[in-house]
Amino acid sequence: MKLSEAIRLGSTLKPQATGACFVKHADGRIGTCAFGAAAEAIGISLGVGSYFTWGLMPKSWWPVLIRINNTACPVCGVLDAGCAIGGLIPHLNDKEGWTRERIADFVELHEPMPLPTDNIEELESKLAPQSSSSFMDGARP
Ligand SMILES: [Zn+2]
Repeated sequence: MKLSEAIRLGSTLKPQATGACFVKHADGRIGTCAFGAAAEAIGISLGVGSYFTWGLMPKSWWPVLIRINNTACPVCGVLDAGCAIGGLIPHLNDKEGWTRERIADFVELHEPMPLPTDNIEELESKLAPQSSSSFMDGARP
C-alpha cells in the first residue's frame, strides 16, 4: 500500500488530530494526524501522544518521504518543514489545516511510479552485483 493510500484509508477510521500521531480529543475520541492515519491503515497501533517514526514505516514509503519538494510548503512557502515531503506532511496537517485526504492527494503527486514489486528487499537482491552466473551471461553472443 502506498503512503498516500494509507493516509486516505486511515482518514476514514478516526477524526483528524494535530500535534501527534494519535491524540485524545476533549470528548474522549482518539484522532489521528496524517501519519497516524497511515499507521492505523497498515495495522500499526501507537499510543496516544506517540509518533510514527520512519523506522516503523515500510521502506517502500521512504523514497517519497525523503523526496525534496522544491517549492517547500505549497501554502506558506516556509522551508522549516525540512523541504522534504516527510517533513511537510505534519506541517500541512498541523500548521496549514489541510485535511488528511488533501494531504494524501499532495503526497500522491510526489510518489514514484509503481515498481514491479513492493518488496524492496527482493528488488535490491535483483539489483545487487551478480556472481559468476550473471543473468546477462546468457544474453551475450
Ligand atoms: Zn506552510
